[in-house]
Amino acid sequence: MSDYETVVIGGGAAGIVAAISAKRKGAGVLLCEKNPSLGRKILASGSGRCNLLNKDLSEKYYNAGAKILVKSIFAKFGRERIKEFFKELGLELYAEEGRIFPITNQAASVLRVLEIELKRSSVAVEFNFEVVDIKASGNGFTVVSKSRKNISCNKIIITGGGKSYPALGSDGSCYRFARQFGHTIIEPVPSAVPIVAKDRLCHFLQGQKIFANAKGVIEGKVINEAGGEVLFTKYGLSGTAILDISRDLSVALNRHPKKEASLLVDMAPSITKDEFKKELTRKLNRGIPCEDTLTGILPNKFKLAMEDLLKQKDLNGIINSAKEKIFKVLGTRGWNEAEFTSGGIAVNEVKESTLESKLKKGLYFAGEILDVDGERGGYNLAWAWASGFVAGLMQ
Ligand SMILES: Cc1cc2nc3c(=O)[nH]c(=O)nc-3n(C[C@H](O)[C@H](O)[C@H](O)COP(=O)(O)OP(=O)(O)OC[C@H]3O[C@@H](n4cnc5c(N)ncnc54)[C@H](O)[C@@H]3O)c2cc1C
Repeated sequence: MSDYETVVIGGGAAGIVAAISAKRKGAGVLLCEKNPSLGRKILASGSGRCNLLNKDLSEKYYNAGAKILVKSIFAKFGRERIKEFFKELGLELYAEEGRIFPITNQAASVLRVLEIELKRSSVAVEFNFEVVDIKASGNGFTVVSKSRKNISCNKIIITGGGKSYPALGSDGSCYRFARQFGHTIIEPVPSAVPIVAKDRLCHFLQGQKIFANAKGVIEGKVINEAGGEVLFTKYGLSGTAILDISRDLSVALNRHPKKEASLLVDMAPSITKDEFKKELTRKLNRGIPCEDTLTGILPNKFKLAMEDLLKQKDLNGIINSAKEKIFKVLGTRGWNEAEFTSGGIAVNEVKESTLESKLKKGLYFAGEILDVDGERGGYNLAWAWASGFVAGLMQ
């Protein structure tokens, strides 16, 4: 006789929902979390507001290899089911440009309604319980904690997360359990991550934010683009537009075989090159010194950053530098600054309808630990809720 029917390893978004879902199916459930509290990443999400879903939820917003699996899981627990789930828990939602947030604008509300539901449905929770080993025993498993506590169960759902923001609990240590049962781990790389670029502009413009259009270029080919905020930092570039296109660059730069990458940034996207030239010429004709012609088009710091071109009155050079600026990318920042993980347990090794391992009966995975990553905008939490719920059904 096992201690529990189901043990869920990892009390993040996916694990909490998996535990609730398994309990609703009547299973005796234990949720194990290595931290002294649950859902630390939920609290950090959306800058503390928790962008928990998107109005336009579909597999097209996820990495190519994961689309079939994501489609199958959303067919069972998609946008409307996720909304109903939170509505039932008493969480009011609202949408802002398609992104869905709690009406309180507090990630803490999201976590709290989940904690209340865990308690209401009598899910057992062990805090400070770091799982260090899983042993297959008979038809089930024995889960071993760091403090050498053994718990037996019939089914396990592993929701230990990826590698991003290790301080919040997910440090990639759960991949080894999957490996132990023969699973393949697609090399994890940081995603939604600032980019390291060596360019004098970054030095001069440190701390400056602009609205720009950024394109990711791999081996000379433009592969994606995004408009939005670009922030210059001492090591390179960040901001929403950069984070939005960082995934493919990170895969190219960090995963073998490594490829060459650069960024092509239009720092004045609101005007065309022709309009730009006309405006600079008009200002010169009014007697404005060339050094001051960028004022009003780009932030004042650009005067210093483009000093040489302005001195030379090289209008084409100025315009090209502003509208087609190439940043040679040296790498990405690390796991402490990456919102998500690209990579993880190979999705073709789990059953599309249940998320049960194809290699070990009774073993399930959900959330960021799988090789599923979505675009920014609520897609990663959507995946965590949906996959957690479906894994918990264990059908
Ligand atoms: C700063 C930041 C902002 C974000 N904002 C958004 C957003 O607004 N919208 C969005 O959709 N996504 C956002 N994300 C991504 C999203 O939060 C994650 O994709 C999602 O929380 C992953 O959920 P998970 O349950 O799979 O993993 P996690 O939330 O990482 O949870 C894993 C849990 O497992 C525990 N654990 C790990 N190993 C063990 C072990 N051996 N034993 C016991 N417990 C263990 C960890 O402590 C952790 O609590 C953001 C991420 C970050 C870092």
